[in-house]
Amino acid sequence: MMNPDTKSIRPIPYGRQHITQEDIDAVIETLQSDFLTQGPKVAEFEQAFANYVDAKYAVAVSNGTAALHLCTLALGVNEESRVITTPITFVASANCVRYCGGTVEFADIDPATALLNINKVRAMLESKPKGYYAGIIPVDFAGNPVNLEEFRKLADEFGCWIIEDACHAPGGYFIDSNGDKQLCGNGKYADLAIFSFHPVKHIATGEGGMITTNSDELYQELLKLRTHGITRDPQLLEENHGGWYMEMQELGYNYRIPDMLCALGVSQLQRADAGLARRKGIAKVYDEAFGNVTGIEVLGTSEEALSDNGSTGHAYHLYVIKVADRKGLYDFLREHNIFAQVHYIPAHTMPYYRNQSYKKGDFPEAEAYYSECLSLPMYPSLTAEEQEFVIRKVKEFVG
Ligand SMILES: *Cc1c(COP(=O)(O)O)cnc(C)c1O
Repeated sequence: MMNPDTKSIRPIPYGRQHITQEDIDAVIETLQSDFLTQGPKVAEFEQAFANYVDAKYAVAVSNGTAALHLCTLALGVNEESRVITTPITFVASANCVRYCGGTVEFADIDPATALLNINKVRAMLESKPKGYYAGIIPVDFAGNPVNLEEFRKLADEFGCWIIEDACHAPGGYFIDSNGDKQLCGNGKYADLAIFSFHPVKHIATGEGGMITTNSDELYQELLKLRTHGITRDPQLLEENHGGWYMEMQELGYNYRIPDMLCALGVSQLQRADAGLARRKGIAKVYDEAFGNVTGIEVLGTSEEALSDNGSTGHAYHLYVIKVADRKGLYDFLREHNIFAQVHYIPAHTMPYYRNQSYKKGDFPEAEAYYSECLSLPMYPSLTAEEQEFVIRKVKEFVG
């Protein structure tokens, strides 16, 4: 038993991977096979993942940031492009625009959910001639799905593309205006969606990422860009000198992911539903514990993510609470071996983006959110006892 007055015996992080013997066996099997990279496991992982999120195509890559970069490349982002995203995200969501020389334009968040505020985006689009903005990158922050049906309508009105950053939301969904479930990354409303398999995310491969899409054209382009801009497809070659022949048709990268990691991904994906159910169970316990506590505000879920029968499309990568003395709580929890985390420092306040003309004060909702937010431990292997300990310590500090 854990003594309520002492610290937790093992450190409790905000997120961590869950590796089973089956996962280990799957990797070993690949190590003993003919292929360490570019073998059969890549396609197997892609197919399984496309099925999981209900998309037509999936392209596995070396990490989530590489996935974002390939998306901006495939969509033709260049020095003239202006792209709108949220300041409350991991910086990679914005950086992918900069990799192609484009300009990042932030729009403030909805304080209820910390998601990109569609009304702010609309106001920006309406203030400029059509074609001024190239695209929008909404983020399913914390696992809370963005209403992409609404974003699609807006994007179509102004000729913009959409990249859904779904790193936090594999298995998440929202209910569209027809009452249909729309899984995050299914490609119905966004042109492209991306995922990460960093160990704190739902599915871990160590490093790894995935792009999903329903577009044949973008799919072909992504395959080429992932491997140096090279193709061997006889249909696409300009010349053909024989069996060895390939063409580098444009400037691509090596953003491939090894077979060993895809074997781990395939194995992890088989437990994705169980992990998601456990995350929802943990969220429910936190909700009940903090629901009526003065001094603690639980970050809200988007309405479209709640179905009639009370189930939720929130994928709970993070469980975020807001408290006045956030630094005090963060330090207090650390003293007790609980490693809560802050997601995120607003991207526009980073020195790099301050040099791109942004400054503190530009996005008051994002900055107010940042001053109070704290992500509590949330991962499938968190025990009920550990969660009780976290809840007790949070209440002890706030109460
Ligand atoms: C993790 C993450 C990324 C980047 O993924 P990596 O695999 O670490 O490169 C991008 N966007 C968001 C929202 C993320 O959480």
